[in-house]
Amino acid sequence: MFFGRKNRKPIVIPPKPVKEWKYSTCNYCSTGCTIELGLDATGKVITSRGHAGADVNRGKLCIKGLQEHELFNSAGRGLDPLMRQRPQDDFQKVNWTQALDYSAEKIQAIQQQYGRDAFAVVSTGQLMTEEFYTLGKLTRGCIGTNNYDGNTTLCMASAVSGYKRTFGLDGPPGCYDDFEHTDCLMAFGSNLPEQHPVIYWRLKEARETRKFPLIVVDPRVTMFAQFADIHLPITPGTDCVLINSMLHVIFKEGLEDRAYLEANTNGLAELEELVKQYDPITAQHICGIDEDTIRQVARLYAKANTAMSIWTMGINQSTHGSDGVCNINNLNLCTGNIGKPGGTSLSITGQCNAMGTREWSSCSGLPGYRYLENEKDREDVAKFWGIDEEFFPKQRGMAQTDIFPAIENGDIKGMWLVATNPMTSMANTARIRKMLEKLDLLIVQDCYEDVETNQYAHVYFPASVWAEKQGCHTNTERRVNLTRSALAPPGNAKSDFWIFNQMAKRFPNGKLINFPDETEAVFDEMKALSKGKDRTLDISGMTYDKIEAAKGIQWPYREGTEGLKGEARLYSDGKFPTTNGKANLIAINFIDNNERPNEQYPFWLNSGRLVEHFHTRTRTGKIANGNKFSPTPFMEMNPDAAEKLGIKHQHYVRLVSRRGDAVVMVQLTQRVPPNMVFVPFHFHDCVNRLTLGLLDPYSRQPAFKQCAVQIEHVDQLEAAQLNKERRRF
Ligand code: SF4
Repeated sequence: MFFGRKNRKPIVIPPKPVKEWKYSTCNYCSTGCTIELGLDATGKVITSRGHAGADVNRGKLCIKGLQEHELFNSAGRGLDPLMRQRPQDDFQKVNWTQALDYSAEKIQAIQQQYGRDAFAVVSTGQLMTEEFYTLGKLTRGCIGTNNYDGNTTLCMASAVSGYKRTFGLDGPPGCYDDFEHTDCLMAFGSNLPEQHPVIYWRLKEARETRKFPLIVVDPRVTMFAQFADIHLPITPGTDCVLINSMLHVIFKEGLEDRAYLEANTNGLAELEELVKQYDPITAQHICGIDEDTIRQVARLYAKANTAMSIWTMGINQSTHGSDGVCNINNLNLCTGNIGKPGGTSLSITGQCNAMGTREWSSCSGLPGYRYLENEKDREDVAKFWGIDEEFFPKQRGMAQTDIFPAIENGDIKGMWLVATNPMTSMANTARIRKMLEKLDLLIVQDCYEDVETNQYAHVYFPASVWAEKQGCHTNTERRVNLTRSALAPPGNAKSDFWIFNQMAKRFPNGKLINFPDETEAVFDEMKALSKGKDRTLDISGMTYDKIEAAKGIQWPYREGTEGLKGEARLYSDGKFPTTNGKANLIAINFIDNNERPNEQYPFWLNSGRLVEHFHTRTRTGKIANGNKFSPTPFMEMNPDAAEKLGIKHQHYVRLVSRRGDAVVMVQLTQRVPPNMVFVPFHFHDCVNRLTLGLLDPYSRQPAFKQCAVQIEHVDQLEAAQLNKERRRF
């Protein structure tokens, strides 16, 4: 019986008249897939395909990568610089000289009146690394504000902070190849098949050839949880209790790698003492995982020959995100799983070049993982750039999540937003709106003129997107890969690199510092700054041609390295860049400090991503198929909970928190428990109207994933109309 299949005609995709393929790296997520862009005889980009020779993706792309070439012709692109006196006025088209002169004068006027730090710069994880380095030079070396950060604070700051606290340095120690060696993988708060589909495919392929247990820790039955051998549906915000109780079992049963711990770590006694309090019998009532399962998982992980952990926002976006990362590192140090094939603590990064901004943008310090707090680092960079060392502050200024509230206080008067969209991405958007309205100067630099935040701008800079420019990205596994420019930006849009260089000319230090015109010359500067046997982030052996030939090279890759392979893993020798060369075990106590459901707000609100969309849909909301597959903000709700409230599948409801409300369509599913709802975070005027976003004390990253809401009925016709208006198509 074929049920009609016999007669079904397969879909045939007509061949495209590609004349030339251009080398590139995907500009969405941090997997770092190598893409080739197909150009027709007129130079128009007509298709994209995964590069079969690239080790990362081996010819594969996810739905976003497959459609990425459609970006170049998508609606809403900015074609000219725009200016206006007040956000309520209409924008007027101006030329670049007018826009840059006005902005530079106004920035300097604000700084003269209120101090250098009264102007803030907030960027992204989406630029090329050379652009990040140039923006850092401009912001730290010319504008001279200390209130400079990237939107990576919303996604990766806790991983950065946790790596620094444990290992003394940022930088994921493992790689995708670890999937092919590990004997047990534990994933915390990561829905890999939807967030990083090609990394998931690498993992799936490894498990098909060599079966090993997959444990997924997530309050929701995500797609990843459905593929797991063991799913731990943890109570939100209690990962630290689960890991501490696993460590309790590991120490009690003598399963730790004591020889490794004694040789390579600090703080063992304190950690052992603390986890004595976390016996599984007590822990189960806090974290929601029964005592036997805690013991089973602890034994499985510790007894595996090699074991590895991966995580994303379920850990990072928490009031104790940095602690959560340290605790995952504790687990791996205690079981001797750092720096060996299949044994690692691998944070899966978010944006395509979140790593590039961490390494080179100077957001949290100075380029190449240097610190403002370190006198020698300040001296070295000032000398290299040719400016007075005293121009640098002696400690880091505010993070993005503190910069916005500082507008309320009147401490920040002007802001430059580069490729970031806080009107959709920040928690409690009603409050963010009021903050933006208070600014004397808001510059928005983005490839899309219709990005939501531009409604509050005084000046708009139209920027180029992805392969309209050239430069590098670094992916999750420290692999530097290249994008070659495939076409020119539309209209009068310019590369972010060009805009930074032009702005630098308008500041006094811009005449002292060299700002090269070519990105490859910038890459050469970065190489020179990275060189040194004590520097882990060493890219001095790389060139654009070598990167393209290798389809990406992992750092460290030192000058004189033979062949085209960098180092796959960090800390394989058990030596760490801390003061005594040992890794720090950090005892993490559970602090229950976030909003929780109660009688008035009885549901946990959880948020996350969909495979079709990227971040605030600034780009994917314009790509026809991706948007058609997922056009509407929706809410996953358990059918039992819905029945009690008289809510039906595909009904609209109003979600209400202490901050605001949002109307969403209900999707009934057993993926969420009866006391939880889940809403994707991509949609404007939706989940972040509700979120609280309390901050992690170390990383200043917001706890997007944990707050309390109630559900109300709404008029269905009115809600449907509202929803229609919210769609981009
Ligand atoms: Fe791009 Fe990530 Fe998809 Fe690869 S997995 S094609 S890097 S969005």
